[in-house]
Amino acid sequence: MNPRLQRPPDLIARVEPLTLTRAVRGPFDYKLRPEQADVGVGSLLRVPFGGRRTLGVVLELANESELAPERLAEPDAVLPPGVPPDLVALAGWIASEYCSTPARALGLVLPPGTAGGLKRRQVLVAELTAAGADALDGGDRLTDRQRTTLETLRRDGPTVAASLGTETLRRLEGRGLVTLDRRDHARRPRSVSIGRRLDAAPALTGEQTTALHTVLGALRSGGGADGRFLLHGVTGSGKTEVYLRAVQETLAAGRGAIVLVPEIALTPQTVGRFQARFGDVVAVLHSGLGQGERHDEWLRLRSGEARVCVGPRSAVFAPLADIGLIVVDEEHDASYKHEGDPRYDARTVAIRRAHMHGAVVLAGSATPRPESAVTLTRLRLRDRIDGRSLPPVEVLDMRGTHHPLHPATRMALADVRSAGGKAIVLLNRRGWSNFVTCRGCGHVWMCPNCEVALVLHRAAGQLACHHCGHRRRAPSRCEECGSVAVARHGAGTESVEQELREAFGADLPVFRLDADAVAGKDRLAQTLQAFEASPAGVLLGTQMVAKGHDFADVSLGVVLDADQTLRFPDFRAEERTFALVTQLAGRVGRGENGVPPTPGTPATAPGPPARVLVQTLAPAAESLAFAARHDSDGFLEQELARRRALRYPPFGSLIRIVCSAPEAEEALAVTTRLHGLITPVGATLLGPAPLFRLRGRSRSQLVIKCLDRRNTVRAVGSAVDECAADAVRRGVSVSVDVDPQ
Ligand code: ADP
Ligand code: ZN
Ligand code: ZN
Repeated sequence: MNPRLQRPPDLIARVEPLTLTRAVRGPFDYKLRPEQADVGVGSLLRVPFGGRRTLGVVLELANESELAPERLAEPDAVLPPGVPPDLVALAGWIASEYCSTPARALGLVLPPGTAGGLKRRQVLVAELTAAGADALDGGDRLTDRQRTTLETLRRDGPTVAASLGTETLRRLEGRGLVTLDRRDHARRPRSVSIGRRLDAAPALTGEQTTALHTVLGALRSGGGADGRFLLHGVTGSGKTEVYLRAVQETLAAGRGAIVLVPEIALTPQTVGRFQARFGDVVAVLHSGLGQGERHDEWLRLRSGEARVCVGPRSAVFAPLADIGLIVVDEEHDASYKHEGDPRYDARTVAIRRAHMHGAVVLAGSATPRPESAVTLTRLRLRDRIDGRSLPPVEVLDMRGTHHPLHPATRMALADVRSAGGKAIVLLNRRGWSNFVTCRGCGHVWMCPNCEVALVLHRAAGQLACHHCGHRRRAPSRCEECGSVAVARHGAGTESVEQELREAFGADLPVFRLDADAVAGKDRLAQTLQAFEASPAGVLLGTQMVAKGHDFADVSLGVVLDADQTLRFPDFRAEERTFALVTQLAGRVGRGENGVPPTPGTPATAPGPPARVLVQTLAPAAESLAFAARHDSDGFLEQELARRRALRYPPFGSLIRIVCSAPEAEEALAVTTRLHGLITPVGATLLGPAPLFRLRGRSRSQLVIKCLDRRNTVRAVGSAVDECAADAVRRGVSVSVDVDPQ
């Protein structure tokens, strides 16, 4: 007898409805109709739910339900392609690991655009017929336009009709010279690469070979705890080349690879190198793509047509069937942490996903996180490929200086100008000045929604809040006392731009890179391209300027107000400051203007030797001293000792809970209740502590420091669930951040 016929008629699907409320928690049972027999784990269904229709994901199939068959609802529709089962499992893990809900975690792994019912786009494609070819050769009567069209088709093969002129093609179709039909058309994203490209693989250096062999050994034995690596090497030491080789070997073994990069717009060169090396087998997934493009790239990965996915943190959810390798480039970058619920960390998720697939994790950085230095196997690349040493870093004491630029900085920039060279200037604060006060009465212009000072944006004639986006006209007089003496304090990228223009004129053009100057991804790429193409100039901006670019001819790097990150009341302040200075140093002296390999020999090209200047009010700060010595091993060692003593990560875990509400008392009430509910052994609870008002909401915070992460996360999760109904009633939203950045 055919075994299929024996299948029980009442197949039940356990479905998690994709609702955002914490109070609703599935799965709920639905009865599948016979024609829905191909539904499986990960299928996306439209289901009746609480009098509405909602989307839901199938978590499992069952033969029976606790509900009587007549009480079971049936799904309205199945929406292909659904979610691969391994991603359903991963979402379940994320929900509990980050104290979120299954529905919210499933939201991360859905195919892009599925909710809107997006399908592959069909386009009209023209193809030359045999008669068409004859007509070209046989000298048939053809207009110039028709002839060119047919020739193009002969040269390029089947072509999208719209690109050739549909009207002409219709005429030719009428004469039987071409065919026109609708075909599936994958929307392929434009290549985003700029800068230098490299197609052929160079012969590896000794250090690269050693690193690669270690990684390949783990790849062959199927990942596991021994298959997690940290490639620690300065910028330009050849890390990307090791990633490329590791991916190549993964593909050769018939498996797929994910390559995570901090942000596509800031790392177009890395993406370009993967595309140039592997071609169409590379898919790119990121938010800058249209939804259609993302959907199609997702399908290419799902179908196995593409086997390498390059993208930012969300690419860790790429629907690859068999993953052999996950690369995390620039693993120190804060963008790997997702700031919405679930507050997942793509680096942690990568390790989990690799574990599920028997894959190797290869993270890399010039400034690795102390966590990674301890938990991953470290592979070192000690030298730059070009043999040049890193540029010397000088710390400039700004105490007593009132001008945003130190005299030594002005001189160095003047040298760059007279040599016709390039510099990068980093100031991690956009706008004109960081706050505005009245000299008459001391009034400070504050955001009405947040307890923070407003920042002057002079070009726009506005004061803006950098937290909620509130904007108002810049004041010409004080609203409290009527005084016209309005004072600006501190410098931002906008005022430094003006400063540089006034000081150095047109010989040293300024390219500003911050969220105001490059609103929109295209503008960002354009600014980078313009700076690269310009023979001389200054790239000025926020920390964006210190990320992955590879400019050949930058001889000066400057950090203005390096304390900006140090002043943050955060245990990562030292790490951030060290990384910022070191990353900027890595952008300097990469090409002809670089530091000569042997001290004392002149640089090969004219122009000032490469150097980095760091302006600070805290010249004695240890993180700056380590950065100045290019001593990342020394920095890691002392930072780990400090963290061990304070039981900070990786020697303990932090969980941060923030309750926010329009009323301060309500937020505090829920935080206090949570404090009472969370009592795992060995955990320290700090708070409730008030935070500044943000976006019109009062906030109260609880920080939990623990050694037993698993049990503490569980305790926090159940405490939050227990408070959920009360919180909703009080108008309080609760956000849990496991491993806050
Ligand atoms: P990183 O990722 O550490 O910044 P890259 O892999 O980008 O370093 O290498 C820096 C430069 O050196 C790149 O232009 C790269 O093409 C080149 N490169 C890398 N490895 C080699 C090698 N083994 N031989 C020659 N050039 C190399
Ligand atoms: Zn006043
Ligand atoms: Zn605000």
